[in-house]
Amino acid sequence: MCIFTTVQEKFDYTIIGAGAAGTLLAYEMTKNPFFSQKRILILDRGDDQRLDRTWSYWERGDGELDHLLLHQWSQFEVAFKQKRYLHRMHPYRYKTIEGTAFHQYFDAEFLKHKNILIRHEEVQDCVENELGVAIHCQSKNVYQSTFVFDSRFNYPELKSQTKYPVLQQHFIGWFVETEEDVFDELTPKFMDFTVEQKGNTRFMYVLPFSKNKALVEYTLFSAEPLSKKEYEDEIVSYLKEMTSGPYKVIQMESGNIPMCCYPLWKKTTSKIMPIGMAGGWTKASTGYTFKSSQEKAKALALFLTQEKDLKDFYSAGKFWIYDMLLLDILFRSNEKGAAIFTSLFKRRKAPLILKFLEEKTSFAEDVMVMAAPRPWPFIKALLGRVFSGF
Ligand SMILES: Cc1cc2nc3c(=O)[nH]c(=O)nc-3n(C[C@H](O)[C@H](O)[C@H](O)COP(=O)(O)OP(=O)(O)OC[C@H]3O[C@@H](n4cnc5c(N)ncnc54)[C@H](O)[C@@H]3O)c2cc1C
Repeated sequence: MCIFTTVQEKFDYTIIGAGAAGTLLAYEMTKNPFFSQKRILILDRGDDQRLDRTWSYWERGDGELDHLLLHQWSQFEVAFKQKRYLHRMHPYRYKTIEGTAFHQYFDAEFLKHKNILIRHEEVQDCVENELGVAIHCQSKNVYQSTFVFDSRFNYPELKSQTKYPVLQQHFIGWFVETEEDVFDELTPKFMDFTVEQKGNTRFMYVLPFSKNKALVEYTLFSAEPLSKKEYEDEIVSYLKEMTSGPYKVIQMESGNIPMCCYPLWKKTTSKIMPIGMAGGWTKASTGYTFKSSQEKAKALALFLTQEKDLKDFYSAGKFWIYDMLLLDILFRSNEKGAAIFTSLFKRRKAPLILKFLEEKTSFAEDVMVMAAPRPWPFIKALLGRVFSGF
């Protein structure tokens, strides 16, 4: 049994988890004078999970975080059945940030703000009370906060429901350095479907940082993860196939990102809001979370200045329905992914697809994008949802 001590300190806002979303939210707060007199607490259990990843995203032209970039590109390639589709991205660019650079910068930045306190604490529970929320930590410390933004993500909770199928974007990536110059440093491979599909949606994702350094990541959108050996065997044979010659593995990353339309944000109360992956900030059909977290963090900070009820922040729009239809198809017919994504990149230009995936297209543009793959599976999925419910 856990016996908590009495309440220690009081804050206006507490962010649980200083990962991507929590950090970006705190950053937005530092930029707005509304928050300069507010006490902000950031609690993170402080394990290496914060540093074990790189984030990539696309955005138009220059961006606020460009000073932290490891690399950026202005074109990419998608491959399927020996065919390669090269896409110029203008006005977009594809950008990569390393977790270590991101956190080093923001940890130092937050120290400059006297109203922000960062504590290494593992949060166990949040209990609402008359004053706001009591945050109970494993250390037995208890913090009181008017509002809480919680980025603790609970995969089992997502999997315990059946209304919205849960696909997983699971991967292992190796940062390799080859002896020969074998990579085209100008062209990341977004989805290389030339790898064997084995009844799933499987592809290689390659980010070339130079002619002899790249991240080579074996990725699946499917219901269940593989053994570590299976991902690694595929990376080894991919490098062999491209005649990479000898190489060193400098670093590795692995992940499992939920692809699901379950409305996680519905847990929001007037005092506690889930954020980041835990709040459904992941784009369900792609797994991309970083850029949408930056945009949601901006919108949320602005929303807080209006002092409205937290429950009014989230709403589901048309893109939630589009994602749901695609996931319904991929969950039932996982082998269809390569053909669906390739038909999109074969028939439409990158700027339109990227605009659609960042949820900024008009309805006419949505129709153009969605008409690219064969429509029948989408019509069937839509009819299925009409009868079973959204
Ligand atoms: C290896 C990898 C690569 C990825 N690459 C990309 C990419 O290229 N582009 C993209 O858009 N997305 C990517 N993602 C997906 C997503 O952007 C990241 O997972 C992102 O970090 C999610 O942000 P978040 O804030 O929701 O969670 P996290 O960044 O995981 O932050 C959660 C934080 O909460 C803390 N925490 C957890 N439990 C507790 C607790 N009980 N008490 C206190 N603190 C706690 C953790 O220490 C952590 O710092 C990737 C994910 C992984 C794993």
